[in-house]
Amino acid sequence: MLRSIGFFILAIFLVSACTKDSTEQVEPYDPAHDYFSFANTDQIITHRVELDLTVDFSTKQLDGNAILLMDIIDPRLSEVVLDTRQLDISEVSVGDTIDRMQTAKFHFGETDAVEGTPLHITLPNDLVTEADLRVKIEYRTHPESSALQWLPPELTAGGKHPFLFSQSQAIHARSWIPLQDTPSVRITYSATIHTPPELLAVMSANNDPLTPRSGEYKFEMPQPIPSYLIALAVGNIYFAPLGEQTGVYTEPEVLDASAFEFSSTQDMLDNAEELFGPYEWGRYDLLILPPSFPYGGMENPRLSFITPSLLAGDHSLVSVIAHELAHSWSGNLVTNATWRDGWLNEGMTSYLESRLMEVIYGEARVDEESVLGYQELLLNFDRVIPERQALAPPFATGDPDDFQGTIHYHKGQLLLQHLENSFGRESFDKFLESYFADHAFQTITSEAFLDYLDKNLLSQHEDNLDRSKVEEWLYQPGLPADAPIPTSATLDSAAELAKSWSAGTIGILDISTDEWSPQTMVHFINNLADDLSTGKLAELDANFRLSDSGNAEISRTWFIQIAERKHRPAYEKLEAHLNRYGRTRLVDPVYRALAENGEDFELAKGMFAAARSKYHPITINKINTTFAKVDE
Ligand SMILES: [Zn+2]
Repeated sequence: MLRSIGFFILAIFLVSACTKDSTEQVEPYDPAHDYFSFANTDQIITHRVELDLTVDFSTKQLDGNAILLMDIIDPRLSEVVLDTRQLDISEVSVGDTIDRMQTAKFHFGETDAVEGTPLHITLPNDLVTEADLRVKIEYRTHPESSALQWLPPELTAGGKHPFLFSQSQAIHARSWIPLQDTPSVRITYSATIHTPPELLAVMSANNDPLTPRSGEYKFEMPQPIPSYLIALAVGNIYFAPLGEQTGVYTEPEVLDASAFEFSSTQDMLDNAEELFGPYEWGRYDLLILPPSFPYGGMENPRLSFITPSLLAGDHSLVSVIAHELAHSWSGNLVTNATWRDGWLNEGMTSYLESRLMEVIYGEARVDEESVLGYQELLLNFDRVIPERQALAPPFATGDPDDFQGTIHYHKGQLLLQHLENSFGRESFDKFLESYFADHAFQTITSEAFLDYLDKNLLSQHEDNLDRSKVEEWLYQPGLPADAPIPTSATLDSAAELAKSWSAGTIGILDISTDEWSPQTMVHFINNLADDLSTGKLAELDANFRLSDSGNAEISRTWFIQIAERKHRPAYEKLEAHLNRYGRTRLVDPVYRALAENGEDFELAKGMFAAARSKYHPITINKINTTFAKVDE
């Protein structure tokens, strides 16, 4: 996923194990245990899921069945425990083969606000099976399923057809499929999806660009993936090819703009294979979603889901595509064992993203993006408690969607950059290629990564860096003293200009922005003096047209400043920004800045109340948390 959240809050911190009953003994934290799944995966493991679901836009529900094909590990198994959230289950049957299914009793356990509700399926006493178990569940999703967003036509680009999309990461797959919802279990899946006949369904599977519209679509995902990568979208979706193996799906109204913006996708894929080894997934397509998609992108295999806020018209925000593509190796091919090891997905991917961007767009652009990432990391260190600043902190309670801000992205990237610097690019690239090959289609903990790194890199070149230095990154807050600090000559000169103009030593016309990247403008805005007058802000806006920027990152940066500085002449356009975008990163920090500026908390609440019907549940949850924190 990419940069879900710019800024965040942590309400809960807990270092030891999760015990729901206070009378239980507190056990030591177990890094191999997934504290965010109820499933009894020590006794039984799913290897395949078969879905048959009808998409009902009128009730905002999926209705149908899921068949789980499972392997029994423990012969004493008496029940199967699955993860669910708000699912309406009508019948469960079990058997060893399709011909020998029998009805099974089931009941729900206690609901947890974050984790949902365990589904307990009791195995009948006369069940005959050696090792295979087939579990069929008839069910219906809740209209407010946390994974599914049902958009009315007016919230789409075309305005005529409804749209549905899923977001299963981190633990939302359980709100649309009853399953073992943990990244430590890998499954293949098939699906038959029934939709209104004029709409097209696409999934993180073998989409065929030539599929005729029929209202019934069949999918197969033959490679084993973790549950958080199961994805579905339904809408008035069309396809345009980008290259031999790549293409883009979206509504016809934004199809040409999307094909233009993401024209480098095939080039990225070709370069990625050169750098990281073979692409294992067949096609690589993009799906450009309506504005309410809460993230920059989601790396659903074969079909990355992408925010339309990247459509800047100048390819300036395509590092998100490099990021989602890179997840085809780090994340999708080699997966974090639990959400606590998220840096193995996100930090590794941010590093691979920078390598891809360097090949295609050059070093200067990567330097700019690395500096902005580093600035964001410093903000994160201000806001996240030290216990959650390690790359691999104990993580037994809290919300896997947001437990350390974006620290796992930027700090993780810096660790890998540090390894590259210490061992040289050639050695490090060899290490990475063997890491992906040796762990393909597996999950990995931070501890297993460290052992592998030690054996294959650290101990081979003992003088360069030792194990204890890497442990500092994994288990200590902040950054080690010898962490690499990114620099960019272009951003440095923009910061100087911002200071000189703020101080009045140069005029606005002395600043030539013709050659500036959007990243340079972002850095310029962030380096303006704290005490700028309203007149100076208005002069800046009039000359650089910042309130009217078509670049989402410039708008975000500008309107955070507008809110912090209480520059009311731009509030109307600030509100337009909050209504134009739904991506959490673009709106939440603006609400936060308004709420925290000492005068505009009520105004922020009012703007949110007016805009919230356009936002995804994940975004709404985030802004509510932000407001609650300000209220404290
Ligand atoms: Zn990501």
